[in-house]
Amino acid sequence: MSTAAEVTELKRAAREAVESSRDRLIELSADLQRHPETGYREERGAAVVADWFTGMGLPFETGLSRTGVKARMTGGSSGPTAAVLGELDALLLPGHPLADPATGAAHACGHHAQVASMLGAAMGLAAVREQLDGDVVFFAVPAEESTELEWRRELVRAGELRHLVGKADLIARGAFDDVDMAMLCHTASEGAPRLSVGDSHNGSVVKSVRFEGRASHAGASPWRGVNALKSATLALAAIDAQRDTFRDEDAVRVNAVMPHGGSAPTAVPDRAELEVVIRARTVDALRHACDAVDRAVRSGAVALGTTATTETTLNYLPHHQDPGLTELCRANAATLFGEAAISLGAHRGASTDMGDLSEVMPVLHPFTSGAVGDAHSVDYRVTDHAAAAVE
Ligand SMILES: [Zn+2]
Ligand SMILES: [Zn+2]
Repeated sequence: MSTAAEVTELKRAAREAVESSRDRLIELSADLQRHPETGYREERGAAVVADWFTGMGLPFETGLSRTGVKARMTGGSSGPTAAVLGELDALLLPGHPLADPATGAAHACGHHAQVASMLGAAMGLAAVREQLDGDVVFFAVPAEESTELEWRRELVRAGELRHLVGKADLIARGAFDDVDMAMLCHTASEGAPRLSVGDSHNGSVVKSVRFEGRASHAGASPWRGVNALKSATLALAAIDAQRDTFRDEDAVRVNAVMPHGGSAPTAVPDRAELEVVIRARTVDALRHACDAVDRAVRSGAVALGTTATTETTLNYLPHHQDPGLTELCRANAATLFGEAAISLGAHRGASTDMGDLSEVMPVLHPFTSGAVGDAHSVDYRVTDHAAAAVE
């Protein structure tokens, strides 16, 4: 235990150590940005992190949920273990100016800066490790984004993954069993506050729906066909008809695309597919919205006489930050940026697998400025690596 003055001095020493690594961290964030990799394929990023841990003399494990890298810094005396996370993955966004021409991967959510900030935290805490009551885990984690879901489903079927997203898979494997609390710092969209903390996120469920009917000549004998495309469009209309039943405070989003709706207009489509993402603020609201979608799918099938099969996957649990960690973060950030620069506790319609972690331990997930454009768009990129990755 330390006095308040001693804690202030430790913070100063840690901050100085981070500052002395500033140029390396900026360079690292920019380097990872230039080498985007999608979830569960982050081999180069994992190797870069492993090199940093080696350079710092920290013991680490690799290959956790395919690409996760986890190091442990032992404190001077016993206490809880806090994990600092950095998400390794990029999105699949071939139109992005910084996209990898070969794979189409692009850092349109700023995760490269998280990895640099995680390693910056390691540099800072290394300067005061003897004074820490408890350990710190530094963990580069895979696959926060929902990309290449069909490939991931195959990995689940093959037994290589247990969940589609990284933190849920890591939790299932016990990789967080020796951790008591976890935090990461994400970049926000353009025009965001300098730092926001305490925000919550929607949980989300993915439904892959397949309608099957019967093909026939669309001109000569359409009456012999059973039209799967009409089932899908009716289901979409029935989903829209129920939007009034979603309460404002539940922040429900139901978004769908139709990856397949027939091959040619000369034949009655015998197969149509919908990919539906359902999001809501609570598990109860998620269930309500999922029931509405299931009924809509059934109604489309019944009306046309097609068969509908639905594969349902829980993608992310709703995310809530711990109030105690939120207050510590706010108070510390205020000493750097001033009270006015910090925003508190908004609800966000997007989802994150920090939600899964927030179900099993206290978590902290502040957002920092440093990026331009809207997250997940071709315009999004971190331009101020110092703000995003160091400060
Ligand atoms: Zn994202
Ligand atoms: Zn993200």
